[in-house]
Amino acid sequence: MSVPKPSPLRVAVIGAGPSGFYAADALLKQREDVSIDLFDRLPTPYGLVRYGVAPDHQKLKSVTKLYERTCSDPRVRFLGNVEFGTDLTHEDVRKHYHAVVYAVGAPSDRHLGIPGEDKAACLSATEFVAWYNGHPDYVDLEVPLDAESVAVVGVGNVAVDVARVLAKSVDELAETDMADYAIEHLRTSRVTDVYMLGRRGPAEAKFTTKELRELGELGNADIVVLPEELEVSDDSMKAIEGDTTRLKNLEVLREMAAKPLEGKPRRLHIRFCVSPREIEGGERIAAVKLERNRLEATESGYMQSVGTGDFETLPAQLLLRSVGYRGTALPGVPFDTRKNVIPNDRGRVLAAAGGAPVPGEYVAGWIKRGPTGVIGTNKADAIETVEQLLADELPAVSAEDASAAAVDQLLRTRGVRAFDFEHWMALDKHEQEAGKASGRPRVKVTAVDDMLRFAATEV
Ligand code: NAP
Repeated sequence: MSVPKPSPLRVAVIGAGPSGFYAADALLKQREDVSIDLFDRLPTPYGLVRYGVAPDHQKLKSVTKLYERTCSDPRVRFLGNVEFGTDLTHEDVRKHYHAVVYAVGAPSDRHLGIPGEDKAACLSATEFVAWYNGHPDYVDLEVPLDAESVAVVGVGNVAVDVARVLAKSVDELAETDMADYAIEHLRTSRVTDVYMLGRRGPAEAKFTTKELRELGELGNADIVVLPEELEVSDDSMKAIEGDTTRLKNLEVLREMAAKPLEGKPRRLHIRFCVSPREIEGGERIAAVKLERNRLEATESGYMQSVGTGDFETLPAQLLLRSVGYRGTALPGVPFDTRKNVIPNDRGRVLAAAGGAPVPGEYVAGWIKRGPTGVIGTNKADAIETVEQLLADELPAVSAEDASAAAVDQLLRTRGVRAFDFEHWMALDKHEQEAGKASGRPRVKVTAVDDMLRFAATEV
């Protein structure tokens, strides 16, 4: 049986990153009688704003002020430290809510699929970023910073972030909210050269111009761009016609190539049309074997890289692959293993790609559309999802089950200590006060047990 307008409408949002908050915000704005439980597996809210955005890009984090406002609405509860699939199952959300919005992001990463990728000094940018941002799951990651030369595979904005962090002096980073252990470890860094490696050309690079420009303005590192790698074919120019970001990128790269080195302590190299084919060395990495590529236009106009059979060896003792995040399946929820997203039609979950909608289930953010776009992109994306949700007839739920008390009771019986927004505000205050003494935005608490001490009362 279906009921068109349950009141209040009970919605579970799984994942308290930007897309989860934008989904909650859109629900609040579009429906008066709504009651939202916003879950996260970590005690802390904000997802990639806390654990992904680079620590030296604090301004981007001010978006959390808007999220705070969302959580201060009495119609929203934040329930951190609740893992979907174990603490709260698919059956539970179907039993207790009229609708669920999965907004879990893309927590994993893509691989290169080349020999040697399993070596310890071959990490993903996802891991490295989570490590320096103090993500509880990555505090013990071993990052071999005795490397003098580091290869960063990929030329997207994440590659720019990790290359910049490696190129900066520790004094520049020590004033940020980077995890204390990461600052201490970076203090021992022997890195002198960081190589960003693009498999395609300068016109195809994914980074944005502001982020690229910043690399040319580092106090601790000279930028190195090879003029011969900036030649752009007519096909490439045609493919980026009208694309102001990419045209501007080319201009900035040309300025960089023309700039004389200033003898700064480190060098940040941006290379194009090279693909790693093998990671060489024993247990440790010694070098990366690169193949030079040429570009070929496909029928659709996409410029694809094709190996030329010319190889070079790049000495490197640490390799970070930054070739894109990857969504993973949630227990009990359909998953498209080809695209690594939850199959959906404008946010309505489908039983399979191209299949029928699953009543009452929705998706927003990277797990809906793939790992692209900036934080703000998730706003329009979440609004689209919420529009579908509010237009649909939703499955019936008994008044008793559709209550906050029933969910609290369920979590209690499972022994789950939910971390609510007041707890987070107490932890947030503690972190910010700890930062004040040293002029930092905050000093992050990085262990879940230490975070949970700020839960004065159990839900
Ligand atoms: P991305 O922008 O998709 O870049 C991925 C890079 O990896 C591309 O250069 C891609 O090259 C390359 N790549 C993929 N497979 C490869 C392979 N097998 N071998 C070599 N290179 C390969 O992804 P991202 O950098 O992870 O960023 C994710 C999203 O977050 C983006 O939308 C980004 O703008 C955003 N972000 C924004 C900021 C910011 O605003 N400051 C910071 C961080 C992230 P091809 O183009 O050839 O596929």
